[in-house]
Amino acid sequence: MYAQVVVDVPTQQTNHSYDYLIPELLESVVVPGVRVVVPFGRGKRLVVGFVIQVLETSQFKRQVKPIHHVLDLTPVLNSELLALSSWLTQESFSFWISCLQTMLPGVMRSKVEKVAVAQTSAIQASSLFQGRPIIPFPTTALAQQQLAKWKNQGLIEVNYQVANQAHHRQQLVLKRKSLNYQELLMTLSGRASKQQQLMQFFWDHPQLKQISYQELEQKYQISAATANTLVKRGYFTKDKVVQWRQPDTGPIVNTQARTLTAQQQQAYQTIIQAQAKPILLEGVTGSGKTEIYLQAMQYFLQQGKTALMLVPEISLTPQMVAQVQGRFGSRVAVLHSGLSQGERYDEWQRIQLGQATVVVGARSAVFAPLKNLGIIVIDEEHESSYKQEDNPRYHARSVALWRGRYAHCPVVLGSATPSLESRARGQKKLYQLVQLTQRVHQQPLPPVQIVDLRESYNLSVQLDLSQPLIQNLQFCLQKKEQAILLLNRRGFSNFLLCRTCGQVPQCPNCDISLTVHLQNKQLLCHYCGYHCAIPQKCDHCGSRKLRFSGTGTEKVEQELQEALPSARIIRMDNDTTARKGSHRRLLNRFGQQEADILLGTQMIAKGLDFPNVTLVGVINADTGLASSDFRASERTFQLLTQVSGRAGRDQKPGRVVIQTYNPDNYAIQLAARQDYERFYQKEMNFRHQAQYPPYFYLIKLTISHRQRAAALKLAYQLAQQIKPVLQKREVLLGPTEPTVARIKNRYYYQLVVKYRQNPPLLQLIRQITNNVQVESRHGYLVSIDNEPQKME
Ligand code: ADP
Ligand code: ZN
Ligand code: ZN
Repeated sequence: MYAQVVVDVPTQQTNHSYDYLIPELLESVVVPGVRVVVPFGRGKRLVVGFVIQVLETSQFKRQVKPIHHVLDLTPVLNSELLALSSWLTQESFSFWISCLQTMLPGVMRSKVEKVAVAQTSAIQASSLFQGRPIIPFPTTALAQQQLAKWKNQGLIEVNYQVANQAHHRQQLVLKRKSLNYQELLMTLSGRASKQQQLMQFFWDHPQLKQISYQELEQKYQISAATANTLVKRGYFTKDKVVQWRQPDTGPIVNTQARTLTAQQQQAYQTIIQAQAKPILLEGVTGSGKTEIYLQAMQYFLQQGKTALMLVPEISLTPQMVAQVQGRFGSRVAVLHSGLSQGERYDEWQRIQLGQATVVVGARSAVFAPLKNLGIIVIDEEHESSYKQEDNPRYHARSVALWRGRYAHCPVVLGSATPSLESRARGQKKLYQLVQLTQRVHQQPLPPVQIVDLRESYNLSVQLDLSQPLIQNLQFCLQKKEQAILLLNRRGFSNFLLCRTCGQVPQCPNCDISLTVHLQNKQLLCHYCGYHCAIPQKCDHCGSRKLRFSGTGTEKVEQELQEALPSARIIRMDNDTTARKGSHRRLLNRFGQQEADILLGTQMIAKGLDFPNVTLVGVINADTGLASSDFRASERTFQLLTQVSGRAGRDQKPGRVVIQTYNPDNYAIQLAARQDYERFYQKEMNFRHQAQYPPYFYLIKLTISHRQRAAALKLAYQLAQQIKPVLQKREVLLGPTEPTVARIKNRYYYQLVVKYRQNPPLLQLIRQITNNVQVESRHGYLVSIDNEPQKME
């Protein structure tokens, strides 16, 4: 028997597999989806690979080598995920191995490492082993010499193992037996009170099947000895069970299902009756999309199926996670990048074993190994964080749609401001479009006031808060209501500006200005991490007149405090949320009304539901518009609509104040009216004329090299290859320099292809992908991005 294996060899990445012989001993365990260790190349090099298929024969019979050993006794990827990986490698122009690896928790992606195994306790005690039975092969020549000597003497063995494999802990639990506890209490009377207390405890909690020894000890001061006595007497059994590392997601709200409004009911019915067609659930902010998701998920769970829910970024949406957990309890697994490696691995295991049947998570959760999928929900489907910006550059929405087709289950794309791509598909009836036009309590959408900042522009002191905004804040605080203030930071930074010569300090390695970080008094490059102390005088002209330009949350906070001395303010930005869980804590404090104003960056725009918030202010609506990206208007419209939707969600009416230098801009105007329909029409017009998605597809190729001329040369060569396969109206842009043309001393050029239906083009791009390895040996890096979310 032969196995087709996709191997993990950085210098040999391609889109195909290699054949290996399955040794007879391993025949029963080598099945598709298990990981194996195989020899690769001429040397004795061993690498990890994934078995894709098992075959009776091989074309390459003569050359095939045998599999060295097997890493998994059961497959880590099921047939669905294997099929998905093969589609994904085509779709995203990425290597097969990275598609396979990306589906697994990080700890399972590790490489094979060479290890030394001590054969005697004396060796184990040596300074090299330091009491451990196995050590990774050391790098120093001296240590290697020592090991070689020991090996010759038969004192150690040299072997290979996968580094860093996650291990979960086991714990002892006390399990109840079905006994009549009333009787037991009687027979126990007069005995040790701790035993009685334990019996009483189980009596009081009839649902409780088991409790860990650790919990007994810590929470109830009942010792293991007491528990053991009762086990001996036959009242309980004890057992060892796996103890999963559970991510700390904060307090869980216990939410009862609510009676759906008429509009919600209609949407719900459409979802549960949907066949294979995806559903675009377009509902204004506060229309109760979450309740629909939860009840639809409940419906499919009752059918014995599983449910997957994607949210843009878990740390930003703790309220959503709390609701899912509140509704579905311990069946829920949470997956996102904020978990520790161990927690991630354990959550993955619980899903794999079928113990968790509901998954809520960010982008990569789309690969959760749920079997028998009943429904997939993508909340805020328009969010750009669903696109992975690194290899493999996949879009979680496309992956979810693939899984929906595979499982024949509904995929619900929810948003108040759908991406133009999705809405266009809804229009073409490729998706079923379901609209929610009313908020749950019939509240009107909040009125929006646009404040023209140009009027205050001439003031000598440039303030960030206009009079109308301050007045609204005062009024809001008088009523003991709360406000959310957004500081739009996209494309924005704090620079140091020389007021004499106009120079802004630049990164020596990248073509970008350095950003001021007041906290540690440094200038920092966001691309390469270069940093230095904030200089006293200008490098260029020697002037000491240096000034910060730009607005920061700290600065606005100060200004706010001066204007409203009694206001209690919570500031939420990268600085105040750097620590794990701090995001949630700040939001909790705000929810418990321990503050009046929540001031923050983009991270406060999404999904927050605070009934006492009646005012939303946007400090600068413009920064997003300044960008040259064709999605700039769409992003601005989405952000403003989302954040406006945080006001007046309960019974109290809300208000929104938007400050801008472009009061006539259509994205701002239409967001103020929450008029998605008009925005969609207008923006589609622009996209049509400028030949952008959803009318055209895009592929972006980025070419870099340490020498500018070399990068440019390859970019031209690729352009020459691509041009002949383009069809009428299809366009190749470039080579052009991206906005930041040099990063870490590499020079960048990019090509953008706009195309419609062109299989030969895709074929060519795949060919280019496969050649990339060859180029990389000459110092080139080529990355290919299908459907790029960012044009820069
Ligand atoms: P969206 O996600 O569409 O912006 P939410 O799902 O956050 O809106 O719902 C808005 C508010 O209405 C929430 O506080 C939610 O708990 C509440 N809600 C949703 N559906 C109902 C319902 N059927 N009855 C009562 N309250 C509801
Ligand atoms: Zn200067
Ligand atoms: Zn840099």
